Amino acid sequence: MHMIERWATVATATGLIDDDGSTKPSIFSEMSALAADTGAANLGQGFPDEDGPLWIREAAVAAMLDSQNQYPPVRGVPALRQAIADHQRRHYGLSFDPNSEILVTAGATEALTAAILAFASAGDEVLTLEPFYDSHAAAIAMSGATHTTAPLRPTESGFRLDAATFRAAVSTRTKLILVNTPHNPTGTVLTREELSVIAEEAARVDAIVITDEVYEHLTFEGATHIPFATLPEMQSRTLTISSSGKTFSLTGWKIGWVCGPAPLIEAVLAIKQFLTFSGGAPLQPAVARALTEGDNDVRELRASLDERRVMLIEGLTKAGFDTVRPEGTYFVCADATPFLDGEVGDGGAFARWLPEHIGVACVPISAFCRPGSPAAHALRNWVRFTFVKDEATLRTACERLLQLTRA
Ligand SMILES: *Cc1c(COP(=O)(O)O)cnc(C)c1O
Repeated sequence: MHMIERWATVATATGLIDDDGSTKPSIFSEMSALAADTGAANLGQGFPDEDGPLWIREAAVAAMLDSQNQYPPVRGVPALRQAIADHQRRHYGLSFDPNSEILVTAGATEALTAAILAFASAGDEVLTLEPFYDSHAAAIAMSGATHTTAPLRPTESGFRLDAATFRAAVSTRTKLILVNTPHNPTGTVLTREELSVIAEEAARVDAIVITDEVYEHLTFEGATHIPFATLPEMQSRTLTISSSGKTFSLTGWKIGWVCGPAPLIEAVLAIKQFLTFSGGAPLQPAVARALTEGDNDVRELRASLDERRVMLIEGLTKAGFDTVRPEGTYFVCADATPFLDGEVGDGGAFARWLPEHIGVACVPISAFCRPGSPAAHALRNWVRFTFVKDEATLRTACERLLQLTRA
């Protein structure tokens, strides 16, 4: 019974439970299934349909043939921890000791979950931006802490954080502040001003800051990713999390990492060792090489994604959507209000209607909000499209979306 209650808490936090208490698939699985059934261009789930660079995959094969197939060290193979330390210094001027301040994890997801479980429990509050990535809400629910949020709101200059609203959401019970930049699903790259507000509040209530930076290299139009740990005096209270999945189009490898002060890393390690202990032995040395020698591949991916981003924004605009131009990530958020009526009344209904009638799949932004929250209400008509698909799929989707204006 107790286990069922625990599942119900997590399921409620992630919207995976129906009003009658039964389990339902996530909106991502539901939309992908609908896309498959209807032959729709799937711009819902955000994973690349192209594999990462061949030479990185060959490095993994070589490691596998070279007997690197048993449990790697719990903190990660030394070459990868060194490569992560070098990467943080080269790109951001941040220094971390590879022996005590860096931990390799089963994707960013494990790092996030282990960090949240290590520092939050019943009675604490964990503050995130809203909308938020679904695993953040699930991990907070598992910890027993209360999930509080501060909204990102659509403005002329993208989805932005309002300083006063953010400050009002921070309380003396706020144990953790979880920051995601570049932000999924809005594409926001938080500015130094926005990050400074978060830093001031974290210092005021002595909160630990966990940052999800998996899209650190996928920024556009001159937007620059600013790691939270680079703000004055913030490195000592920050756990910086990233992953090779998005940067190198290797999402199935699940090689991620967390960097931070040694005492915080020890606490995350204590949890992490009993979640997976370790994994991905032959993949870790390949990711070490990717981080060291892969800057060109990252530049190429960014340029190609930028073209696809522009194509999708143009297609959505032509079809009649109001869009917010993303400065980072793989996603464009669009307001579907012009296409709603009595029967198709909000973003959720629109996302369920679109595959069959127009042949395109997307996901509603409500899937990234707490049910009934002010942000869920404000964004009830919004949907998210991904542009991390090949050009032909995007072109087909854009052509099909034009039928909306004629419908
Ligand atoms: C994809 C994604 C993750 C998951 O990263 P993995 O390395 O695959 O675990 C975490 N956070 C955000 C915001 C993501 O979009």
